[in-house]
Amino acid sequence: MRVDVFSIFPALVDGFCSESLLGKARENGLLDLRCHDLREHTTDVHRSVDDAPFGGGAGMVMRAEPIFASVEAAAPPRPLFLLSPGGRRFDQAMARELAATHPTGGGFSLLCGRYEGVDHRVVEHLVDGEISIGDVVLSGGEVAACLVIEAVARLIPGAMGNDVSPVTESFGTSGLLEESHYTRPADFRGWPVPEILRSGDHARIERWRLAQALHRTLRVRPDLIDARGGLSDQEKRLLEEFPAVPYP
Ligand code: SAH
Repeated sequence: MRVDVFSIFPALVDGFCSESLLGKARENGLLDLRCHDLREHTTDVHRSVDDAPFGGGAGMVMRAEPIFASVEAAAPPRPLFLLSPGGRRFDQAMARELAATHPTGGGFSLLCGRYEGVDHRVVEHLVDGEISIGDVVLSGGEVAACLVIEAVARLIPGAMGNDVSPVTESFGTSGLLEESHYTRPADFRGWPVPEILRSGDHARIERWRLAQALHRTLRVRPDLIDARGGLSDQEKRLLEEFPAVPYP
């Protein structure tokens, strides 16, 4: 999957995406990430990418020319999204949509703003949409770009081995958060692992896991339970059969 990123700090995105699973995905060709420096497409001696806002006011605005020039030179895969607090809220469903552009659609692209944001003509005439990573204001789109790329890349078949379960993983098709996990030692500082996980009874363990996912979701994200139409009678019985693991 090809992903192009446009930024005045391309090394931020390139560096983050060179480590761990993202780095491996790039090495083995699953992810073809190209980070473009918007400053390479400036024409003045100061290589300026920003200018004062028309109408006055605080801060600077990213100029349209270097952005258009950079995007036109790279001919990046589309859709091209501007990262912006005013965009569509990014979530797992959108990550799945973007991952589905692989391999047929050939990927997507991201434009990172800085300062007060970009000249609106970029929004109107260059990008295909805007993505926000949440109701929070960052200083630039680079961290947001890394977040989007990581969420999408781990869904590319082969990028994670067998680690992604589209059903049980949080925000998967179960509509639940994933249950808590434990690893060795079985007793850590007197806090034991739930006995059932060491029982070897896999059918019972699966039921316990589902019960824990239900407990956890009810506890921290009851809105997700509402969104899937509440609890079935079978799920209610499961909750009674297996109490929740302790929470602080
Ligand atoms: N003045 C703007 C904020 C600009 S922040 C406002 O009040 O809406 C500078 C840049 O950081 C933005 O252009 C965008 O690319 C990035 N950014 C900030 N917050 C973001 C968010 N929640 N999601 C995605 N990108 C964000």
